[in-house]
Amino acid sequence: MIEISKEVEKYLEKPYALSALGTGVGGEIYYDYLAFFHLILVKKGKKNGFVVPVSVKNAVKICKKLNLKFKKDDWHNYEECVSENNSLSKETTEKIKKMRRNRIRVHQDVLCGTDDAILEKFCSGNITNEKLGEFEQYPKCCIKQFTDNVWGDFVQAAEIIGDTPQNAEMILNVSRAGNADERIFQRLKKIQLEFADGRKKFPYLFHQACTDCLNDMENSPSGKLNKEWGNVAKEFPKLDSLIMQGGIDESEDKKRLWDKEWQEWIDGGCLG
Ligand SMILES: [Zn+2]
Repeated sequence: MIEISKEVEKYLEKPYALSALGTGVGGEIYYDYLAFFHLILVKKGKKNGFVVPVSVKNAVKICKKLNLKFKKDDWHNYEECVSENNSLSKETTEKIKKMRRNRIRVHQDVLCGTDDAILEKFCSGNITNEKLGEFEQYPKCCIKQFTDNVWGDFVQAAEIIGDTPQNAEMILNVSRAGNADERIFQRLKKIQLEFADGRKKFPYLFHQACTDCLNDMENSPSGKLNKEWGNVAKEFPKLDSLIMQGGIDESEDKKRLWDKEWQEWIDGGCLG
């Protein structure tokens, strides 16, 4: 029987990268703490699974320490999820999907879970954001909005450039280029400010909470998860305060970068 609080202490003494948004790739250590916390949730049976995307070595190390089941994934291709309200032509849609499949290389990640069945279910085939979301138990409303956000970038770009399959490459290239057109900037700004709001309201969640969840902190699916998982975090006060503070800092940081007018954002170097 491992003592979780001992492992928490050891990890906080010498943290290492466990999240793609964490320190190992120039991000914020808050996300490594949060990833570590999600592994504790799996350990305690509060969550079915967690993907450690950043380092196979680190993932195997932490799973062995926490005595968790794990499996290296065997995902073939990245498959883009298409929004239910997709307004693009069938031809443009297919071309974008094909190009995204070719552009996004699938890295080997490690899936950690409560049992082998859950790992088997998710570790092969093509990987999609929705499949990842299901594995990580993100609320359905938030998964849907995430898909709408990602796909919406392409729709917005196509509205500006023109909805034809010949434009697919340019659509992908400008879909996140907030400096190219104010409409693109305004989309990104809304998504980033919601992300900032979510870090502060739901610091224990990894996923980006949807608008409905953000508007109902008490009773929304995200609100309930945050509360439930927050109670687990209280068992580890030092880790808890690092996560709480990290969420606040991350939120402030995002707001500082995005809560601006278009020109101001461009003059500031398009950061964020
Ligand atoms: Zn939601």
